Amino acid sequence: MVERRIVSERARRRFLKQATIAAGLVAGGLLLPGALSARGGTNNRQGRIVVIGAGMAGLAAARELEAAGHRVDIVEARDRPGGRVHTLRDPFSGDLHAEAGAVGLSPSYTVANRYIDELGLERADWATPDLRPLYYLGGERIVLDPSAPPDWPYELTEDERKLGPQGIVERYILEHLPEGIGDEARWQDDDMLALDQMTMAEFMRANGASPDAVALIGATQWFGAFIDSGSMLASAMSSFGLFGAGAPFLIAGGNDRLPRALAEQMQGTIHYQHQVTAIEQDDSGAKVHARHNEDTVTFECDHVVCTAPAPVVRGFDFSPPLPRAQRAAIEGIDYADTVRTYFELERGFWFDEGVSGTAMTDLPIEELATQPYSRAGGPDTPAVLESHVRGRGSQALIDREDGLVDYVLDQIEKVHPDIRDHASEGFHLHWGSDPHALGAYSVPAPGQISRHLPALGQAHARVHFAGEHTSILSATIEGALRSGVRAASEIIEALSRTKA
Ligand SMILES: Cc1cc2nc3c(=O)[nH]c(=O)nc-3n(C[C@H](O)[C@H](O)[C@H](O)COP(=O)(O)OP(=O)(O)OC[C@H]3O[C@@H](n4cnc5c(N)ncnc54)[C@H](O)[C@@H]3O)c2cc1C
Repeated sequence: MVERRIVSERARRRFLKQATIAAGLVAGGLLLPGALSARGGTNNRQGRIVVIGAGMAGLAAARELEAAGHRVDIVEARDRPGGRVHTLRDPFSGDLHAEAGAVGLSPSYTVANRYIDELGLERADWATPDLRPLYYLGGERIVLDPSAPPDWPYELTEDERKLGPQGIVERYILEHLPEGIGDEARWQDDDMLALDQMTMAEFMRANGASPDAVALIGATQWFGAFIDSGSMLASAMSSFGLFGAGAPFLIAGGNDRLPRALAEQMQGTIHYQHQVTAIEQDDSGAKVHARHNEDTVTFECDHVVCTAPAPVVRGFDFSPPLPRAQRAAIEGIDYADTVRTYFELERGFWFDEGVSGTAMTDLPIEELATQPYSRAGGPDTPAVLESHVRGRGSQALIDREDGLVDYVLDQIEKVHPDIRDHASEGFHLHWGSDPHALGAYSVPAPGQISRHLPALGQAHARVHFAGEHTSILSATIEGALRSGVRAASEIIEALSRTKA
């Protein structure tokens, strides 16, 4: 039986404040897994390590391994570092930019914050202009008047109507979460694992929410995107447990500055445009085979860190083969898809009306967000407006093929009737068809964390697995970084047992 205790009032208030600031944000992170090695090397034998992937997990693993005195090569399929931390600049004029992948970081991201400080990067606040929040729900355009709560177009109970979305979250979610959801090490405790048996919708209903209260949260809150498909445990740990530690932020100038700075500081080489296809190993070492142009290149090493996303790893040839449970976990873990459609605007025209450009909707375009997130903009300042569709709605959009951008614009017109007067030609980005991601991030369905997470992060002799999908803090930068640190410490320990 789940032991349910009330999370502290302070943590709850903090969470609600951050949740309002950070529509569209995924967050997490509190604990630093494993002791990190001091820079400057150790007395152990110098190992040769190949890291597959220059995303956050791979760069973290490489940094920690090099700090412990080991030789590292990264083999990366793309022509850039960062993986799913990617800032779009080229399509836009001037210094406009937009995040294609990860958006918000949090003070609770212990590894990320340590790297940001070590690398001398600047943090940028999440800019929240003083404008009235905007929604489009049940066919109605709703401009929030803080002094008079709207008549939400849902069949709520009288009590729920008074509570409003934030009160509903508090009443049916936060008050029922077990203590310690910010403690990554607690995820295998019984009260946590009980949360893995249900979705957020089921959790809310079990705590008394009406079906329409659940629907309201699904449509208006960033953490509601997978309300009826994702495991409640993933949301509890990544979104709720660790999110309330402070105001979310971005990397000034674009989030890709973090992976780029990590890549620049590497002593070893990042072999870009090398696509790994196979990993073999025996008692004496490991070999990683990659396609580069028309050639096959082989990297020999003592240990491998594999950080490619699970859907990509499904296509790798392992010799000897992975154990059955590990293969089942890699095959079985669910990923969410996203489609983001971007429009450059010559000015933030919504300021004229005094409403936010950002909006939560129940339309097929789901959420609208103005970018860069670090800039409030203004009526005379250029900006980017994006529609961010997560999960099942993504496929319906993608099926529209050439008509997608126009369709999105038609939908945005319902929220921002003047959009066509200001928008340039748009374009879309679909993580599901990116061959080096094949999805946006892991969103384990109920039961999948208990069933698959231990095997996902399990080393297969000399091959160590990392990446956000191997962490309980799934779908976060911090989960990816910590998994890379964990894989590095596994290897450092293994090599210390085989001192020269
Ligand atoms: C749309 C979106 C929004 C997000 N929002 C947030 C957010 O607000 N906050 C947050 O904290 N997190 C967010 N995330 C999640 C975060 O971006 C990821 O959890 C994290 O970046 C994953 O890092 P990783 O190293 O595990 O994987 P990746 O970044 O995917 O790195 C894996 C690397 O492996 C490479 N690779 C793949 N196949 C091969 C191959 N065959 N050979 C060689 N290399 C290969 C890839 O190119 C990639 O560089 C978001 C992600 C997306 C997509």
